[in-house]
Amino acid sequence: MSTLIQAKDLEQKVAALFKAVGSSEQEAIQVASNLVLANLSGHDSHGVGMAPRYVDAVLEKSLMPNAHVKTLVDTGSMLGLDGQRGFGQNVGVQAMEMAFDRVKEHGSCIMSLSNAHHLGRIGNFAEMAVSRHWVSIHFVSVNSRPIVAPHGGSDGRFGTNPCCIGIPLGVGAATREPFVLDFATSMVAQGKMRVAHNEGRLVAPGTLIDEHGHPTNDPSVVVVPQSNGQMGALLPFGQHKGFGIAVACELLGGALSGGGTWHRQADGKRAVFNSMLTIVIDPARLGPDSSFAEESLAFVDWLKSSPPPQEHQSSGASKDKIPLGVTLAGEPERQTRAQRRKNGIPIDASTWQELVNAGKLVGVVV
Ligand code: NAD
Repeated sequence: MSTLIQAKDLEQKVAALFKAVGSSEQEAIQVASNLVLANLSGHDSHGVGMAPRYVDAVLEKSLMPNAHVKTLVDTGSMLGLDGQRGFGQNVGVQAMEMAFDRVKEHGSCIMSLSNAHHLGRIGNFAEMAVSRHWVSIHFVSVNSRPIVAPHGGSDGRFGTNPCCIGIPLGVGAATREPFVLDFATSMVAQGKMRVAHNEGRLVAPGTLIDEHGHPTNDPSVVVVPQSNGQMGALLPFGQHKGFGIAVACELLGGALSGGGTWHRQADGKRAVFNSMLTIVIDPARLGPDSSFAEESLAFVDWLKSSPPPQEHQSSGASKDKIPLGVTLAGEPERQTRAQRRKNGIPIDASTWQELVNAGKLVGVVV
């Protein structure tokens, strides 16, 4: 059972929680609107359902409101930044804007950001870059609890390490909506297991193993401690290939940034820290921009002209809202945004109760 709520109302309610734990008005709104945008984009796992956890993280003194990025390394086109345990939606944006200044100067920037609290939906950073017609690549490590099993292993050893690539498509009058590929390297994001658990749903086979390393489709194995006090784990996507990308995220996002890698048991903390390696490129400075734009559009048009499989065409799948034909990364989020801006955002009863409880903890009526 879920309730529909308009984005602006939700933003105000969630911002009040962050103000109550010490965020400035500006930071509270920035974090809340970022979470609401994740809901609008269809990623409820990274939406306002995270707010109670952020409140707990401030109360346990792991997350620092109103932090500013600290520059550790500055070589001109390379920046090594420390997020000082601030809200990722704040220090992450500060870090991207610093990188953008360097792209204007040098044509590209390699930026690492360590010790940011949860950066939320990484696609948000890629969208900041593609709106400037720049390419943006992100490798992110998660420092929270070991929730994903290595391919060939049987227990959780690392986080859901997201990877994201944003590419602008076309130029000038021929500009199209960008390609924004943004995903957790686990079969699904951990937050989606929280949402499924809250909604009492089972998940697809091949997503999870239980606390004994056996396959299961019960999301509670990664949401609540099991009978032996242990948790189950998510599996990486794409077998050895997805596992390889997850390891690269830990090595580039975690080790190279100075944020560190995960190699210990869970510590029970509520805070979720992210470290991120970002590469931003201005295509106009790397080569002939018209060729990049023309070739990109020629390729995506070629992909889009592939007809849907016969069985889809004859099954009337579109009536069931299953998209017919080829979808490009970024399209599903834009479609969901348009629908949810119009109709409101569905919030399930458990998530709503968690927001109400977080409000009670800090003296705010949600
Ligand atoms: P997902 O499995 O829904 O995949 C999303 C990606 O696939 C998007 O780029 C989307 O446009 C694309 N896509 C979806 N359907 C498609 C189709 N039919 N054809 C082509 N492309 C399609 O996402 P996820 O793995 O559940 O991740 C959700 C969010 O969680 C992401 O925004 C990610 O950044 C975020 N995340 C954050 C953290 C963190 O610690 N900050 C950790 C993990 C994930």
